[in-house]
Amino acid sequence: MNSDIRDLTRAELEARLSALGEKPLHAAAVFASLYKDGAGSFAAMARVPARLRRLLEREFSIPPFKSPETLVSAADGTRKLLFSFPGGAPAESVVLPGKGRLSACLSSQSGCACGCSFCATGEMGLVRDLRPSEITAQYAACLRAAGGPLSSLVFMGMGEPFLNWENVKKSVSILSDGSGFAFSQGKMTVSTVGVVPVIRELASSGLKVRLAVSVVAADERLRGRLVPMEARYPLKEIIDAVRDYCRARGAQVFFEYIIFDGVNDSAEDAGRLARLIKDIPCRLNLIPHNPPGGPGAGVTARAKSFQKAMIAAGVRTYLRLEKGPDISAACGQLAARRRGSARG
Ligand code: SF4
Repeated sequence: MNSDIRDLTRAELEARLSALGEKPLHAAAVFASLYKDGAGSFAAMARVPARLRRLLEREFSIPPFKSPETLVSAADGTRKLLFSFPGGAPAESVVLPGKGRLSACLSSQSGCACGCSFCATGEMGLVRDLRPSEITAQYAACLRAAGGPLSSLVFMGMGEPFLNWENVKKSVSILSDGSGFAFSQGKMTVSTVGVVPVIRELASSGLKVRLAVSVVAADERLRGRLVPMEARYPLKEIIDAVRDYCRARGAQVFFEYIIFDGVNDSAEDAGRLARLIKDIPCRLNLIPHNPPGGPGAGVTARAKSFQKAMIAAGVRTYLRLEKGPDISAACGQLAARRRGSARG
């Protein structure tokens, strides 16, 4: 089958059109047809001259994706979209309602190779990387599920975005292209468990996406037990790279800290974390752990004390409420549960 035209950035499509002897400026009309009009075939691209549509038909394809299954939380309206991409690769997206805003969380990989011990996606292992077209298809489906514009986008669903960085970068380029979805890069956040070389690359990439880093634990031994990637990229190196990123970009970073009841939420843990990050321009999000099969401990008194300690240390700290507990809204939970049931 010809390659999927939706895997190309506009610059790549312009280059392909030039190589075919066509004017590169037609790429803008193709993007508008695909992403503004939602054209599902070359024949439906009313903005594109008929002769060029026939040429595109010979060179490229637009294979349809299966519609995602959608679950809606009765508790808070969170919507979970469960995709099955070609080859049966599962992926999940979530539309999260907030105060007068809607954000979407996208997957970058089907499954994940990182194997974090607390994560349902980690239990699945890596199925495969998602292609740019599969990432942007999640965004389009989230838009439809939201029924209106999205305020922000996070790459925090299944997978480690920095281990599929080339495709994630392309999807960022496609999503933010002014001829198509025109979603601002400044409203996108890419979340990593700490792939140091890509944090450094992002600092000089010219991309305007924001960076979030999953700390999980400030004690390196404890972190090593929870996040196997710690052996490859130790927390100290991650924090050094983040500090350099903030300096180079003049930007702040988001630190994500999953609170495990009684594991990483003591006063000593808070002190260790404060010493690690307090000189970095950041916002700290504390996320109560939502275990597969739930329910989690929720917002405990210890979590509140942890937040107070971080604020007292001068770190802007927010305690997040669990979203969509009745539909397994956390990363990869539903797909992992279904794969588990399928295996019997
Ligand atoms: S927490 Fe993120 S990086 Fe770790 S296994 Fe889950 S999806 Fe992968």
